[in-house]
Amino acid sequence: MAIFKMMEQDDYEQVIFCYEKSSNLKAIIAIHDTTLGPALGGTRMWNYTSEEEALEDVLRLAKGMTYKNAAAGLNIGGGKAVIIGDPSKDKSESMFRAFGRYVESLNGRYITAEDVGTTEQDMDYIHMETNYVCGTSSGGVGDPSPVTALGIYKGMKAAAFAAFQSDSLQGKRIAVQGVGHVAYALCTYLHEEGAQLIVTDINEAQVERAVKDFGAEAVAPEAIYDVDCDIYAPCALGGTINDDTIKRLKAKVIAGSANNQLAEARHGEILHEKNIIYAPDYVINSGGVINVADELEGYDEKRALNKVENIYHVLTAVFEKSRKEDIPTYKAANKIAEERIEAVQKARGQFLPKNKNILSY
Ligand code: NAD
Repeated sequence: MAIFKMMEQDDYEQVIFCYEKSSNLKAIIAIHDTTLGPALGGTRMWNYTSEEEALEDVLRLAKGMTYKNAAAGLNIGGGKAVIIGDPSKDKSESMFRAFGRYVESLNGRYITAEDVGTTEQDMDYIHMETNYVCGTSSGGVGDPSPVTALGIYKGMKAAAFAAFQSDSLQGKRIAVQGVGHVAYALCTYLHEEGAQLIVTDINEAQVERAVKDFGAEAVAPEAIYDVDCDIYAPCALGGTINDDTIKRLKAKVIAGSANNQLAEARHGEILHEKNIIYAPDYVINSGGVINVADELEGYDEKRALNKVENIYHVLTAVFEKSRKEDIPTYKAANKIAEERIEAVQKARGQFLPKNKNILSY
C-alpha cells in the first residue's frame, strides 16, 4: 500500500492507525482538511475484506465530508473513521473506549459521530473517554432523518425553481424511490404542499403506509424509472442514475437523499446536457450533518433548522454557477466547496502569528 501516494493524490492531512490488542480494535481515522475547522465525520464499522479496502473507504469518505461540510457553509473540516469488524458480533465497550482514547489524543482535530454500523450506545462508550463525539444519548440530537428530510424538501423546491421557474410543488408529480426514514418524512412535506406522489419500496409495508397516509400511487421497484413525473427523488440506494436509467427517466428534476446517486461522474455531464436539474446528493442531504454540527455550539434547534433550511440558498447558488459556467451541477458544487476553502485559507494566511522562535535567530 503506497499510503503517502494515496494521501498526496487528494492532499490528506493525517491518517491515524489505531490498534488495541485486548479488544481487537483495528481502526483508521482519516483527516482530510481542517482549513475550515475541526474535521467532523462519523465512525463506520464494517466487515472490510482487506485493510486496503478499509483505507480506501476511509480516505474517500473523509474527503467527501470536507466537501459536504464546506458546501453547507459550516466551519467544519472533513474527516472520517472506520473500524474493521462485524458490527453484529465484534463490538464491545472496551473497543469503543479504546477508540475514544485515540480520538481524545487528537485534541479536537477530529470529532466523531454515528455512521453505518455504529449506534448511540457506541457513541456513549466513546464519550467515556473523550468529549470530541456527537450523537451521544446525553447531548445528542437523535435520529437525523426528519432533519435530513427537511433539507431535501427545501432543496427540492430550489431545484424546482431552477427547472420550472416556480418553487411550488403543488400538483407536481414526484416519484419517490424508497419510503424509509428520510423519504417518509419528506413525503409528509410534499403531501402537505399538494404534490402527487408515486412511490416504490422493496418493503411492501412501507409502500402501503405511504399509499394510506398520502394517497400515493404505488409502482414496482423497477418501474419507478419509467413513471411519468416532474421530479425523481432517489431515497434508497446509490448509483441509480446510470446508463440504463438515464434513458428512461422523464423527470426534469432529480432531488433525493441517497448518497452517491451518480453511478459515474459522466452521468452528471449527461444530465447537464439533457437540461435536467440534478441537486448534488452531498449538498441536498447535508441536513443531518448540519444538525449534528450544531451540537458543537450547544444544540439550539431553531438555529440548526434555520441552517438546514438554508440548503435552499446553497443549492440556488449551485444551479446559478452551473448555468453561468455551463458545467454540471455536481462540478459547480465541488467548485463552490473548493473556492470557499481556498478563500478562507488565503485570508487567514496573512494573519498567521509570527513564529516566536524566529526572534532568537
Ligand atoms: P432507510 O433504510 O430507512 O430507507 C431506505 C428505504 O429504501 C427502505 O425502506 C428500503 O426498503 C428501501 N429500498 C432499498 N432498496 C430499494 C430498492 N432497490 N428499490 C426501492 N426501495 C428500496 O434509510 P434512510 O435513513 O431513509 O436513508 C435513505 C437514503 O438516504 C440512504 O441512501 C442514506 O444513505 C441516505 N441518507 C440518509 C440520511 C439520514 O439522515 N438518514 C442522511 C444522508 C443520507
